[in-house]
Amino acid sequence: MAVNGSGNGGAPAVNGRAYPLEDHTYDVIVVGAGGAGLRAVVGCSEAGLRTACLTKVFPTRSHTVAAQGGISAALGNMGPDDWRWHMYDTVKGSDWLGDQDAIEYLCRNAAAAVYELEHWGVPFSRTEEGKIYQRPFGGMTTNYGQGIAQRTCAAADRTGHAMLHTLYGAALKHSAEFLVEYFVLDLIMDDEGRCRGIVALNMDDGTLHRFRAQMTILATGGYGRAYLSCTGAHTQTGDGNAMVLRAGLPLQDMEFVQFHPTGIYGSGCLITEGSRGEGGYLVNSEGERFMERYAPSAKDLASRDVVSRAMTIEIREGRGVGKSKDHIFLHLDHLDPKILAERLPGISESAKIFAGVDVTKEPIPVLPTVHYNMGGIATNYHGEALTKQGGNPDHIVPGLMALGEAACVSVHGANRLGSNSLIDLVVFGRAAALRCAELLEPGATQANLPKDAGDAALARLDRFRNASGSTPTAELRSRMQRVMQNNCAVFRTGEVLNEGVKLIDEVLAGAADVKVSDRSLIWNTDLIETLEFDNLIAQAVVTMNSAANRQESRGAHAREDFPERDDKQWMKHTLAWLDPQTRKVSIDYRPVHTYTMTNDVSYIEPKARVY
Ligand SMILES: Cc1cc2nc3c(=O)[nH]c(=O)nc-3n(C[C@H](O)[C@H](O)[C@H](O)COP(=O)(O)OP(=O)(O)OC[C@H]3O[C@@H](n4cnc5c(N)ncnc54)[C@H](O)[C@@H]3O)c2cc1C
Repeated sequence: MAVNGSGNGGAPAVNGRAYPLEDHTYDVIVVGAGGAGLRAVVGCSEAGLRTACLTKVFPTRSHTVAAQGGISAALGNMGPDDWRWHMYDTVKGSDWLGDQDAIEYLCRNAAAAVYELEHWGVPFSRTEEGKIYQRPFGGMTTNYGQGIAQRTCAAADRTGHAMLHTLYGAALKHSAEFLVEYFVLDLIMDDEGRCRGIVALNMDDGTLHRFRAQMTILATGGYGRAYLSCTGAHTQTGDGNAMVLRAGLPLQDMEFVQFHPTGIYGSGCLITEGSRGEGGYLVNSEGERFMERYAPSAKDLASRDVVSRAMTIEIREGRGVGKSKDHIFLHLDHLDPKILAERLPGISESAKIFAGVDVTKEPIPVLPTVHYNMGGIATNYHGEALTKQGGNPDHIVPGLMALGEAACVSVHGANRLGSNSLIDLVVFGRAAALRCAELLEPGATQANLPKDAGDAALARLDRFRNASGSTPTAELRSRMQRVMQNNCAVFRTGEVLNEGVKLIDEVLAGAADVKVSDRSLIWNTDLIETLEFDNLIAQAVVTMNSAANRQESRGAHAREDFPERDDKQWMKHTLAWLDPQTRKVSIDYRPVHTYTMTNDVSYIEPKARVY
């Protein structure tokens, strides 16, 4: 097919250059084939909805494949457990920013979701009696904070791998169509504010496609790559979040960025929290197990924000290890080598490759590393995207849903508990599909797309394809990542954040000078990386501004100038818009849902968060 030729059959011409568009119609379009996208694909196909799943990487290469430690559900296989305890822990972990109706939905449906995965074939590790093996994880307790729960279901330390491959297998049993290595550029919105579909580039042959659908589900993952050191894949560029910003919709709670305590020093590669769940512990240069001072009862299994801050303080006060005293040691060498080989084989290998360490003999050098984005596209617990409109803080954006790390349901609030993301993917992936089955009629006639549908996406593509400035994308990206790493880190102050706002604006302004040297449309990684950078910088700007705006400390957002949580002023979700023209951020708020979904549980009152 001609890509640059004329005779484009009426498709819009951009800058005199024609980009022919192939049109497609489906009931549901799912963007993303990670755990969240795939679970939604299965459910929508089961409901008889004609479903297409578009993904920029092969499904089983989505970042979900890298998840190590496990998936939470109160199965009670290793001792007493209750989904209400799981709910309490998740609310407390969220530092009371999570919506309690959504958290109830998550925790009460978690066990069924894990059994579903088991029945579909996930090869979970087993107990002596053959039940699903469960390990302790940070912040997961019994009896409303009294004891330590063993709630995290694991397939050794390769849980995400097992899950993603099983989900892909389950999806292939159905009639859904997979469009692999399609890079989705933008949403198509109509004048009434309804999402009508998407525009995508097939990276393999350079063709451009317009998809019309009754429902578009964004399951595009997080944007960890806005930072220099992160545990996430290079594909984690938050493309769906950026599409939402360009559609004039807000992102929620973007100031909450989770640092995982144990990224390998230097590479940022993850060492699962499961390693501390199996008995690993952190020490400083004095050989002290310092977590005993910061979290006397949970110690090394306090939640992630607490451990990351404790490590940062130890390093700052001169008790870091190594030549530059700039990291911490994680000991696993006291554990039985048999247990290490059986339950933590993957991280034993990672430690060898990325730190040159034999975990049976030496400690692993570690440092807090960006790991997860609590913020994202605001949704309700059906997965429906929300915005604030006409005084309604929960206005549903018709035709649009979001799931997984791209979404902010919000079950993780200001801080996600380890193993609560994988469960979020499958519980809300299923919920979204149930909602689609309820709302949509298979094969229903769809109105014609707006006349200019896709023009803006093509204009943006064309602009970057022909960008002839003098700064390579890699240089801009590295500038952005350094600003985020330095000015929006574990500890924050007004001064550093305000400087960050200025610096990230400079990177944004500098992006006008971007240089793309490859002009082709087929496997043009230079172009794709530039589109991804443009997505990342929009989220970086929104994150920095949201962080500068929130004058309190809550969960992962630790302000040294405002060290206390301030429920009176700040128990509310941040909504941030990025003006497409001026690229200025504006901020408003949504109330936290301080009510539950049913009367089976009551609202969990805020209190101090100690571990
Ligand atoms: C190393 C690591 C270990 C982790 N361990 C755990 C754990 O043990 N337990 C836990 O609960 N959580 C864990 N997490 C977090 C959890 O794995 C992620 O939050 C979760 O897997 C995200 O899933 P997702 O379905 O939202 O997106 P992803 O799995 O990130 O998938 C995103 C999908 O979107 C597609 N996509 C993105 N942009 C586009 C575009 N423009 N066009 C087309 N397709 C696009 C991609 O191709 C991909 O298919 C871990 C995370 C990391 C990084």
